[in-house]
Amino acid sequence: MPEVYNDYFGQFGGRYVAEVLRTPLDELQAAFVEAMDDSRFSAEFDEMSATFTGRPTPMVHAANSSRELGGAEVFIKLEGLANTGAHKINNAVGQILLAGRMGKTRIIAETGAGQHGVATAAVCAKLGFECTVYMGEVDIARQKPNVFWMELFGAEVRPVASGSRTLKDAVNEALRDWAASYGDTHYLLGSALGPSPYPDMVREFQSVVGRESESQIDRMIIKAGLDLAALVACVGGGSNAIGFFSPFLDRETPRLIGVEAGGTGTGPGQHAARMGGLGRAGIVHGYKSLFLLDADGQVQDTHSVSAGLDYPGIGPQLAALGLSGRVEFNRATDREALQALQFFARNEGLIFALESAHAGAEAIKLAPQLPKTGAIVVNMSGRGDKDLFITAKELDPERWKAFLLAEAGQIPQDRGDGGSRKSRGRRMM
Ligand SMILES: *Cc1c(COP(=O)(O)O)cnc(C)c1O
Repeated sequence: MPEVYNDYFGQFGGRYVAEVLRTPLDELQAAFVEAMDDSRFSAEFDEMSATFTGRPTPMVHAANSSRELGGAEVFIKLEGLANTGAHKINNAVGQILLAGRMGKTRIIAETGAGQHGVATAAVCAKLGFECTVYMGEVDIARQKPNVFWMELFGAEVRPVASGSRTLKDAVNEALRDWAASYGDTHYLLGSALGPSPYPDMVREFQSVVGRESESQIDRMIIKAGLDLAALVACVGGGSNAIGFFSPFLDRETPRLIGVEAGGTGTGPGQHAARMGGLGRAGIVHGYKSLFLLDADGQVQDTHSVSAGLDYPGIGPQLAALGLSGRVEFNRATDREALQALQFFARNEGLIFALESAHAGAEAIKLAPQLPKTGAIVVNMSGRGDKDLFITAKELDPERWKAFLLAEAGQIPQDRGDGGSRKSRGRRMM
């Protein structure tokens, strides 16, 4: 068992929660530690990964891009080929299997952009759990496609009307639900943050990305005589990055580079970069880490073209690894992410999620600075189909608008928003 199951990573982490949440967190910690020691649990996880998630996900050599960039060879881990389109499902599978072991029958989750909610709802559908997803009203309005998919999977999407009506308020509502329901309910937190044991647990479930990458790197990079120079991943809460990096954390090489959302600038509300001096130490959502806070210590608004990178805090382990220097942090702006999306689409036939395109942008900057004998691996944490409503608006606004207007004109008046929310997923049958 890794010796890392503890409350703190350097000065960050911990478990800062109301008394009522101590019991469910203690139970969860005990069940997690016990499961990690049980080979039957890892066999179940591997079975679901192979038959439902679609693992292993491939690693590709981005040969055309490497040639154009003219430096290190670029490789891409295609995590976006996992079912539901991103790495988030690894954590959903792990936690829902654990919830089953604990005898829980109901799963609750928070979601911002909706990606975590979609992954959670899909696994609940597969394994037969009741599913409630808390989502801010503002996010529901701007992430319609993911709300649609969650409901199609049979989940209830519960609108959150408090605070700024976004992700942080959805977390608070989910915690409130859990305090009253933990007898039969598991709270499935979506990134490597929150009160202990979530940062350890989410990292362990996402470390499947790192383990697979390690053997693919051995085959495609080391055996080919290339030097593994760097691993690059985007960082929202940090789950895809910490999972991808995890086998390499105790080594001195390769360089591990996390890329945060540089948005439109470094002013308040223009970005979501917590590292590099922009974030401040604080305690939010039950853990201590670096957050974007205003002068009064209130959580600040953030901005990113990618909805999955705009959480105001960073996972405590990555914050500590940033301060210790093992993980370097850079930023990519909205514009750089959109350019990276276009670059890899044109050169490789791959659609990066806008989140992952931040990591792609870093590879575009880094590769030309390294020798041709070097190699960089980028984690494409998700695929970009989900971003159509954002990327098409950004890259081809006029024709996209014409398309949407034509589509809207084809929806019959009397069917506009027919059917109750709960029945929508099933009314075709
Ligand atoms: C949610 C999401 C992220 C950000 O979350 P992390 O916990 O930082 O990984 C990144 N990429 C994609 C595709 C996502 O859906």
